[in-house]
Amino acid sequence: MKTLGILGGMSWESTISYYKLLNEGVRDALGGLHSCRVVMHSVDFAPFADQMGKNDWKSVTAGLIEGAKSVEAGGADALIIATNTMHKVADEIQSAVNIPLLHMADAIAGGAKKTGSSKLGLLGTAFTMEQDFLSRPLKEKYGLDVIIPDSEKRSMVHCSIFDELCCGKILDKTRAGYVKIIEDMAAQGAEAIVLGCTEIGLLVKPDDVSVPLIDTVQAHVELALDYVL
Ligand code: GLU
Repeated sequence: MKTLGILGGMSWESTISYYKLLNEGVRDALGGLHSCRVVMHSVDFAPFADQMGKNDWKSVTAGLIEGAKSVEAGGADALIIATNTMHKVADEIQSAVNIPLLHMADAIAGGAKKTGSSKLGLLGTAFTMEQDFLSRPLKEKYGLDVIIPDSEKRSMVHCSIFDELCCGKILDKTRAGYVKIIEDMAAQGAEAIVLGCTEIGLLVKPDDVSVPLIDTVQAHVELALDYVL
């Protein structure tokens, strides 16, 4: 088995999900006491969130490169960035290390293939929805179309991620808001909805909605397990 490097802590609420699913996946594949070989660098998220808020991506990138180098030095064979938003600087991180970065867009494309979808609704932080660091590779590499909610709904989703989900607050009222947004995107032709923030799967479950969900934690873990096993 290869060793997986994880840049985590963004937020730690979802890094726990990654860690659990990775270990369950290895146990299912190999049985007995087998578990996933992991080297993790888990950040203090507050300064990173501050820097993102100030659009100081230079500092964000420097901090993440430091973490990526530390997992490489710790013996990782490949790296995952356990958040969608930080894929904004995935190319810079990949350039700073010699191990492969298992990119979230490839994971999402795997989920789209499984659900047989070619038009995806994307939920995530404002960075993820409004910029093209995920939607562009999905289009250019896989021919997948991506739609996003309108600006008022994007703002609700973005704020709920930082004010609630990353702080461990799972609220029924917020879930109801997400369900409405998801059903609206399905009505606009989205064949599957990408939970393109690693905490959204803690709030919205497949049974809450009528359209298939691509949970990026699940999809990213599947990509990582293919690599390590
Ligand atoms: N975990 C979130 C994501 O998947 C948001 C936190 C972050 O900005 O990294 O995008």
